[in-house]
Amino acid sequence: MAEPFSLYLHIPFCTAKCGYCDFNSYAGNEHLIPSYSQALVKEAQLWQKTTAERTVTTVFFGGGTPSLMPVDEMATMMEGLRAAFDILPDAEISLEANPSSLDEAYLRGLLELGFNRLSIGVQSFHDEELQALDRLHSAAEAREAFQAARSAGFRNVSIDLIFGLPEQEMASWQESVEAALALEPDHISLYALTVEQGTPLARDVARGRTPAPSPDAQADQYEWTEQRLADAGYEHYEISNWAKPGYRCEHNMTYWRCREYLGLGAGAHSYLDGVRFAVAALPTKYLELVDESWKDLQAGGEMKMRQVISGEPITPELAMSDTLILGLRINDGVSLAQFQEQFGVDALERFAEELSEPFDAGLVEEANGNLRLTKRGRLLGNEVFVRLLPD
Ligand code: SF4
Repeated sequence: MAEPFSLYLHIPFCTAKCGYCDFNSYAGNEHLIPSYSQALVKEAQLWQKTTAERTVTTVFFGGGTPSLMPVDEMATMMEGLRAAFDILPDAEISLEANPSSLDEAYLRGLLELGFNRLSIGVQSFHDEELQALDRLHSAAEAREAFQAARSAGFRNVSIDLIFGLPEQEMASWQESVEAALALEPDHISLYALTVEQGTPLARDVARGRTPAPSPDAQADQYEWTEQRLADAGYEHYEISNWAKPGYRCEHNMTYWRCREYLGLGAGAHSYLDGVRFAVAALPTKYLELVDESWKDLQAGGEMKMRQVISGEPITPELAMSDTLILGLRINDGVSLAQFQEQFGVDALERFAEELSEPFDAGLVEEANGNLRLTKRGRLLGNEVFVRLLPD
């Protein structure tokens, strides 16, 4: 049997755009939702033949705000995906959700469709911080959404928080972490606020209206949190992710282990059959191009994936870099024996020059046959990753 793969579905709709966000998401496009879910089904059908010999181990609806999709649209998509792909009965099926678009009836509907993991974008448990981030929910609504997920029957629920907000005091961050822990989520993702070019936040920082996030404060918050979550029984398994035993996000492990995935939807990226490729980002363009490709398929003509607008075959050099850069994000690191088996070269010899300074600076280490980041390296991962990029 050919190698299994993962499926990612991009839902590019949001009720409003958050000031720090540079994801491929759009406010005010909800009228496109019905045609968008139909297009995702058509796109799945376009890939059916190519992936016929392979099973799907994980499905992840990300965004944007996937929880804006009504249950009947979700049903259309899940039915279309199951018809086109061999999704394993025990596949992890995740949905990213915003607290403001969740209630128990909706969540029960998702469970009936086979969703078994929910990732709730809480970001902070302080209303004034949520407002500063342009989030539409309150801390109370975040708690209610989490409890609704549990009452509905979700056994695998993750909470996302953002740290290092401008002028955020350590005490304020600690309160958010404690509030998250009080809910006993199965998984926690923590992201440092970054200023992305072209966002309203970047403009505010450039004009001096908002101070830039402080890297020192972010480092202090991260270090405190590592200890606190370890004490609370969470395994720190990836730079930004912690899980109770048995609750790692298997879908994201696909990316970090450099395994293959197919991304459907506007702006989605894929790594399939040794090629990385991307789909048109603008939802209206995506709808138009998928429809043209699908009509070709119906007419029995030559199949063209018109929605795929760029692609790059992954050479062994690129694959080696990706395997290290992505694999080092996981706390277990990269198995040197597996690397040797896959590429026929010794990673430490092949990347001796690139890794020399990170070893000297105590950012990477060899442990139990794995190359991995040290505790300090997890704070300064980018210092290591840039060195491993191909020329
Ligand atoms: S809800 Fe998420 S995807 Fe949408 S604008 Fe805010 S941060 Fe971006």
